[in-house]
Amino acid sequence: MKSAHRANVLGSQRGLAIAKLLIVVAVIAVAAIWYLNNEGGELKQQAMIQAASIAGSVAEDMLDRADSERANQLHKVPISVEKINDFIFQARGIGNTHVITTSAGHVMFDTGLALQAARQLQELQKVLPEGEITHIITSHSHADHIGGVKFWQKPDTEIIAHHDFLEEQRYLKDLEPYFWSRNRLLFPFMPEQPPEAGMFAYGGVTPTITVQDWEVYRFEQGGVIFEVYGTPGAEGADNIVLWLPQHKILFSGDTFGPMFPQFPNVFTMRGEKVRKPVEYIRSLDLMIALQPEVIVPSHFSPVVGLENTVGGMQRMREAVDSVHAQVVAGMNAGKTLYQLMEEVRLPAGSELTQGHGKVSWAVKSIWEYYATWFHFESTTELYPVPTRAVYADVAVLAGVEALIQQAQNYRQQGSCVKALHVLEMALAAEPQRAAALSEQQSCLQELLQEALVLNNTYEVMWLEKQIELTTSALGFASGG
Ligand SMILES: [Zn+2]
Repeated sequence: MKSAHRANVLGSQRGLAIAKLLIVVAVIAVAAIWYLNNEGGELKQQAMIQAASIAGSVAEDMLDRADSERANQLHKVPISVEKINDFIFQARGIGNTHVITTSAGHVMFDTGLALQAARQLQELQKVLPEGEITHIITSHSHADHIGGVKFWQKPDTEIIAHHDFLEEQRYLKDLEPYFWSRNRLLFPFMPEQPPEAGMFAYGGVTPTITVQDWEVYRFEQGGVIFEVYGTPGAEGADNIVLWLPQHKILFSGDTFGPMFPQFPNVFTMRGEKVRKPVEYIRSLDLMIALQPEVIVPSHFSPVVGLENTVGGMQRMREAVDSVHAQVVAGMNAGKTLYQLMEEVRLPAGSELTQGHGKVSWAVKSIWEYYATWFHFESTTELYPVPTRAVYADVAVLAGVEALIQQAQNYRQQGSCVKALHVLEMALAAEPQRAAALSEQQSCLQELLQEALVLNNTYEVMWLEKQIELTTSALGFASGG
């Protein structure tokens, strides 16, 4: 594991150089698209798609060379078209794009990432029967679901989204630089800047039809009945799913997250607005009642058979309900947030992966969702002076040497987080102290080994990044 981890660190350093190259590619692509866009002409759109396709391939080749295992897991999803049945096509990629074909025109559900949208479109065009795209349904406002809308949309295409879609897209766009830098810390293979040009830029999708929470928008086309339900609480307040009642197929977007079944990401560590737990349970109830025989998520492969589809949803429902109830009971019983983060468990036998959503973080999320920012633990919480403000003074009083020794004691007792607390004090006084940095490195490595058991992507990515930063700080370190 340790050698695999070193490979990851090296990979992400190469990733940085690659990211810089990506910007150059993006600039060239943007210039080409801008030129074509302003030239007009009949072949304009095809030419733009061709340019975007080439830019996307080059950029992705570069991402592929960022040889971090985890980066590859996330990014090496080759574009291919699968037939889900005789009338539904799925273009796979980082985000899947779906086309439900009918004799009276086709309906899309989710459109993938802008980087891959042109190639998904080209692959789909090779196999789709004749017919216009009449509707594009976007499961929610995340970039890996709406990235292709601009590639597919015609002036009269209906865009179906949740009632809150525009507001979610608005804040994600307004805070794009903030979220981008946070995401990039976790996913170092991302380019340095968000793409800003034309078809690659985030946002700009305007729904023509909207659906409220738990309401249904129903239409029929070419003999196929489409039902779009508002199902909030999974990957955002603006979540919707598509149900084909005649075929018992549910297009779930990210309603369950990237894995199924899993403990969901109730609030994500990346940031973003709240995801309401009880509303999510209600959304799960709605989908369980539909009894889907097939679930088609917008990441990875379909899930088939009631035992897996309904069974999986029931396990998720039970888990969220139980964690939520434990937090509420604990709050009412006067337990502290940290006690509950330690104590709350999944229901017995649940065995849901925490690879995406971590239970202890859900505890913190639910707590703060109900009680918000003031934890009633200390007067100091009320003022803009964090504990960290006195670390350097404490370190001088205690002695940096003694703090490093105490950190080692904590680590040997299995308390790596306590060790990190005192090391933060030591490093506040002497940021380049080699012994403190190398003790910090050992603690982070141990936490990483522990984290690999649950294998939560965000926790692992975070720890890997901190190890990388500590390694590079050690290069400038001094003293014993
Ligand atoms: Zn997604």
